[in-house]
Amino acid sequence: MHAFFRSLILSLFLIGSTANPLLAHEGMWLPVLLQQLNEKEMKDMGLRISIADIYSVNNGSLKDAVFIFGGGCTSEIISSQGLLLTNHHCGYSAIQSHSSMANNYLRDGFVAKTQADELPSKGLTATRIVRIDEVTSQILMGAIDASGKRNETQIQANIQALKDKLSAETGFSPVVKSMYYGNQYYVFLTEVFTDIRMVLAPPSYIGKYGYDEDNWMWPRHTGDFSMFRIYADADNKPAAYSPDNKPYKPYRHLEIDLGGVKEGDFTMVYGFPGQTQEYLPSESIRLLMEKTNPARIELREKALSVINAAMAKSAETQLQYAAKQSRISNYWKKWIGENRGLIKLNAVAQRQALEKEFLKLGGSAETLNALNALEKSGGDVQVAYEAYVEFIRSGPELIGFMRSYISALEGLQAAKEKGELDALAEKTRAQIASFYQKTDLEVDKAIFKAVFPVLKQHLPASYWPSELNQQVEGIGLDAFTDQLYSNSVFASAKKLSAHWDKSVSSAEAQPEPALLFVRSLYAYLLNTLQPEFAKTNTEREALMQTYMAQLLKTFEGKRRLYPDANGTLRLTYGKVEGYSPRSGVRYHWQTTLSGLLEKYQKDHPDFHLPESFLTVAKLQDFQPYYYGKDLPVAFIGSNHTTGGNSGSPVLNEYGRLVGLNFDRSWESTMSDIMFDPERCRNIACDVRYICWVVDKVMGGGHLTEEMTLIEPSSTRMR
Ligand code: ASP
Repeated sequence: MHAFFRSLILSLFLIGSTANPLLAHEGMWLPVLLQQLNEKEMKDMGLRISIADIYSVNNGSLKDAVFIFGGGCTSEIISSQGLLLTNHHCGYSAIQSHSSMANNYLRDGFVAKTQADELPSKGLTATRIVRIDEVTSQILMGAIDASGKRNETQIQANIQALKDKLSAETGFSPVVKSMYYGNQYYVFLTEVFTDIRMVLAPPSYIGKYGYDEDNWMWPRHTGDFSMFRIYADADNKPAAYSPDNKPYKPYRHLEIDLGGVKEGDFTMVYGFPGQTQEYLPSESIRLLMEKTNPARIELREKALSVINAAMAKSAETQLQYAAKQSRISNYWKKWIGENRGLIKLNAVAQRQALEKEFLKLGGSAETLNALNALEKSGGDVQVAYEAYVEFIRSGPELIGFMRSYISALEGLQAAKEKGELDALAEKTRAQIASFYQKTDLEVDKAIFKAVFPVLKQHLPASYWPSELNQQVEGIGLDAFTDQLYSNSVFASAKKLSAHWDKSVSSAEAQPEPALLFVRSLYAYLLNTLQPEFAKTNTEREALMQTYMAQLLKTFEGKRRLYPDANGTLRLTYGKVEGYSPRSGVRYHWQTTLSGLLEKYQKDHPDFHLPESFLTVAKLQDFQPYYYGKDLPVAFIGSNHTTGGNSGSPVLNEYGRLVGLNFDRSWESTMSDIMFDPERCRNIACDVRYICWVVDKVMGGGHLTEEMTLIEPSSTRMR
């Protein structure tokens, strides 16, 4: 092993024992390092099980019950038959895809009465982590020269070689991830299940109760959960969907503790946090706060104003745009909270103070200054890049669709030569059909008109090419969007299909003037902006890698530095506790059913509850899940979480499930950049509320019967 890395890893071990107690709840820890870094603190805080119960390779441990859900959420197994619990917002697209106006599961909910009724969700995956190993020395072998310069091509080759070796040896899928900006590498062996079926979706009045108004808010009463099931082949191995597949038999499933939690209790959140940037230099934070976030927020705000109005007018548009609206509004609101939190924390000044400390302790001024200077000089290209990304991701969908249509047109000749013309023709026909089914062209056109001026306003001047300006401003925005949406072949599925069929029969793109704009836009993005952005990015990454190594060394024994979240398995721990969002206000740590009913507003779609729910709630029939009069609904804790932790299990000191993580409070959302132990709180749905809804509200008692419920002893009942 490279000497530098040996000392780096050693220094991490040492840091654990001298941690700054103020930062006690900050950190997303790698399960393989818990024993060295965190065990003592966790035990002192209340943990009653061993670290081997949380993570071990040879025996079923809690990690075997925690799965990546789809592309970016967490889920956990809660029965011996592969029953998977995750958030409603994580299952949302799958639920939407099973829904129609006739069977509106998204709105009305769904329970499979038997396993035969469970609905295969095409494209959905659930991923188990088989084992985690540190592989820094293998990945960096031969990749660092005597002067310390890294050879990224060699690193990539080493990663590939390791992956090839491990997949041949084990049959599992290896994923190599870098930690601390390329200062360490870990390999995660994974087992990816592809036959995932929908078991239960609560009605939206439960799963999205409070909608955008309550999203990212505390106090909260959302039943943000849904259930799926993993199916496997006869050998309990991953397999493509088949009616012969059987429910997966896990190595471990989570027990459900009906004893609940009380203030001060130890909790852990086990899951796959997506991305944090806790070590940004001060100028990066300034750029984010002053330029990037405002641009993204305003672009999304404009798109949302159009989508929300359209959804309020028609039930069909509501179903069509539900997932898109949720996705856009989720981070729109998050970024607003993040900026407020960073301002309140005085984040730039705080980071500057840390940088001063770093320098005082002997950290290198050269790297730090170069980084901050780069953020200043390269700021424009980053803002421009983010603004365009946001325009395409959250703005008009026709732009992205036109781009794939252009690729299809450009592929005609080659497909003909290879005898693949029919396949391309069919594939594109299906894409055309699906686009026009999921997009309301009038809404999309209105989004274009609303969002485009904001894009221009946030683009630094030299990042809006005159050629594009000429095309749009030359005739004015109204006429331009008419040309794109109403007077082109894109005006309807029929017209576009005719254009496609004609192009296919001549194996040549038929003329269409509306394509010029998208051609020029992408030519600019790919040939000019992207390379410039990539250059700055490469420079920044190299500097961050050096800076991070220096941070680790400089703060050795003084600050505990965990690797930023990167979608890998982490454990975070804290306590059930309330907080003070502002002077004079203290938030309680728990919400209950009576609070949920207080929020009810008959005529407000976001807080509406049907008569059937009100009737069941009034019965106060909560047993055997809860023996008191006011059923707990949600609670908060000081566990450091982020997006990707959605759907993560909240575990008590015995490693039993007490809650389902689904959000953070609005005052917390800056924790992706800077964590504040005073105010950062994760929000979890109380598992007893989930059980009550499943059984008593939705008639899914067969599902709670399948779970391992640990009855509350009288002393632990809370
Ligand atoms: N609700 C959040 C999300 O959807 C989860 C979090 O960031 O804490 O990403």
